[in-house]
Amino acid sequence: MWLLKILLTNFCLYDCQYCVNCRSSNVLRARFTPDEVVTLTMDFYRCNCIDGLFLSSGVICSSNYTMKQLVLVAKTLRQKHGFRGYIHLKTIPDADDELIEQAGRYADRLSVNIELPTEISLAKLAPKKSGHTIKLAMGNSRAASEESEAEPRAPRFAPAGQSTQMIVSADETDDRTILGAAETLYGSYQLKRVYIRRSARYRTAPRACRRMHHRCCASIGCIRPTF
Ligand code: SF4
Repeated sequence: MWLLKILLTNFCLYDCQYCVNCRSSNVLRARFTPDEVVTLTMDFYRCNCIDGLFLSSGVICSSNYTMKQLVLVAKTLRQKHGFRGYIHLKTIPDADDELIEQAGRYADRLSVNIELPTEISLAKLAPKKSGHTIKLAMGNSRAASEESEAEPRAPRFAPAGQSTQMIVSADETDDRTILGAAETLYGSYQLKRVYIRRSARYRTAPRACRRMHHRCCASIGCIRPTF
């Protein structure tokens, strides 16, 4: 499946040390409006260049503001343009439940990034992020998904399930720990996929990372196949 993979913006309030778009990075910043993302998606979709959209974003202003912007794109595509392609939305872990519920209504798949394999790594490299909050968001998505599947009259919620992304080259965490963390996530949250990515800011990739397909880039958009 070919997706337009795009960031609403690579501006971000956070300073996660493994991320090329973190606040202290001196990359060029750019930002699309929700309408621009909708127009781009529809243009590519109408000429059969893509099957859908994978939309993520740096955190602008606040988690809720950012999540509202992401939901607005998906809602406009579905309601205004009758878009029937695939939509994958990244969710912001501490955004309000109501916004996540709306995201699940319009998107096929949701994901919240686990970021790093261990709480120790997270505390060292992204101290403003909370492993507890991230896992709570995953648990809530799993519960909403199961409720939607079990009750035909319940609102639609991300029928293609949820996934996550783990950065594996930001510190010296070993392969066994990385694979153990991925296995636990699959089991605990019924994830469809744990995407393994190498940090664009570090080059000490452990073997598990080198064996897997990975790609990070500083651009805010590309078209790529997703499996
Ligand atoms: S990982 Fe996400 S939240 Fe952290 S700096 Fe990068 S874009 Fe911002």
